[in-house]
Amino acid sequence: MSKRILPKKDERFNHLVTTGEYEIRIIGRDRRPLTYVGCKCDCGKIFFAEYGHIIRSKIKSCGCYRKELNRRKLFKHGMKESKIYKIWSGMKKRVFNKNDSHYYRYGGRGIGICDEWLDFMNFYRDMNESYKTGLSIERIDNDGDYCPENCKWIPLADQGINTSRTHKIMMDGKITSMRRFCIKHKLVYTTTMANIRRGKLTIAWLEKKYEGEDHDTE
Ligand SMILES: [Zn+2]
Repeated sequence: MSKRILPKKDERFNHLVTTGEYEIRIIGRDRRPLTYVGCKCDCGKIFFAEYGHIIRSKIKSCGCYRKELNRRKLFKHGMKESKIYKIWSGMKKRVFNKNDSHYYRYGGRGIGICDEWLDFMNFYRDMNESYKTGLSIERIDNDGDYCPENCKWIPLADQGINTSRTHKIMMDGKITSMRRFCIKHKLVYTTTMANIRRGKLTIAWLEKKYEGEDHDTE
């Protein structure tokens, strides 16, 4: 017969820490003696559970952890169709999805998202109160990450104006400023930017039009 492993005090398994108390209980049809150990959950609750289950992570908390997970799942599911959820997932796409058409101006040039905001619930906690329909998320420092300190809501229509000074565009496979792009392609900068603001031109359209074109101005 294998030797019974006896629980010690202060062993940590997931959200539980053993209290050092234990008892042998004869349970089930096969009358096998099982070790039940006292544990304290991170939430403060103290209870007895089968030691084997705790070692093998079949029990990770008093049940509060599972409840919390379910709560998060339900919340996320309920929010999926909301505007703020779409803004959050759009932000993740721009930063992480290489196939996203805006990736090169975000993730592609090193813009990230703080760890906390990778969880929608945290993003919601920080940004929902100030959110109103029609607003979009803006990074205060255009070279900084998406994080609470660097983000604010602005009306969609303002976004072009606010970022015009730092508009970035692809040229010869590299990201450059709109100003340089205009000089190289003999475009009037102010007119081009005005047309972008009015929606007559898009960055993507310009990139495509002048793609691979070498004006040899130098
Ligand atoms: Zn608990």
